[in-house]
Amino acid sequence: MKILCDTHSHTVASTHAYSTVHDYWQIAAQKGMQLFSITDHGPAMPDAPHPWHFGNMKVLPRVHNNIALLRGIEANILLDGTLDIPVGMVPFLDFAVASFHEPVFEPSDKKSHTKAMISAIETGLCQIVGHPGNPNYPIDHEEVIRAAKDNNVLIEINNSSFTHSRKGSEKQCSAILEAVLKLDWKVTFSSDAHIAFDVGDVSRCVQLAESLSFPEDKVVDANANRFLAFLAEHDKAVSLELADWAEQFR
Ligand SMILES: [Zn+2]
Ligand SMILES: [Zn+2]
Repeated sequence: MKILCDTHSHTVASTHAYSTVHDYWQIAAQKGMQLFSITDHGPAMPDAPHPWHFGNMKVLPRVHNNIALLRGIEANILLDGTLDIPVGMVPFLDFAVASFHEPVFEPSDKKSHTKAMISAIETGLCQIVGHPGNPNYPIDHEEVIRAAKDNNVLIEINNSSFTHSRKGSEKQCSAILEAVLKLDWKVTFSSDAHIAFDVGDVSRCVQLAESLSFPEDKVVDANANRFLAFLAEHDKAVSLELADWAEQFR
């Protein structure tokens, strides 16, 4: 299984990450990727960039070194089940990941986490739920996946959860992949890189997927055309803006 896109990474705009967008482009090219995304933290996180960071992403080239860049955000699921994406920011985003983070949403119980995550999915503001396998935030996998499917939101399997963060995620992620298969839904594999060297590294996600015979055609960011077609279903203009570029991979 070869995954040529990455839907989650952080630049120096989130202060606990260490690479610039230029660094990402360079490493993505070395790795033969098609596309990566910058998804710095939404405003509710203590080290989030100023909201202008998101509004000005329009200055970023769509393609450089024949690698496309998507302009994203890793938004925070708030206690009331909404997201920290101001309405005015939406037109500047190609997509949003919605995640639980401890500084914003204090972990409580499975019922509250499930309710908040489903409510976030139902806002229509996010296209991916981030690291739902975090053992600090137990959720009802099937309930969340059903809501995600109803709202055309992808389930993220996050490679950092197996390396640097969220220790103990393997068991949850394995159960999530099995539930995704059972409910016939789809995922995205992401690096959640905080340094450019990690961009596109979803090797642990692939390893887990292969051990469960999880098919590649359910991994929406396996190639650029598949992920852009998904964004088109959300009426995101980027799918048209990159259509000519993506033609070469058909
Ligand atoms: Zn996160
Ligand atoms: Zn992240």
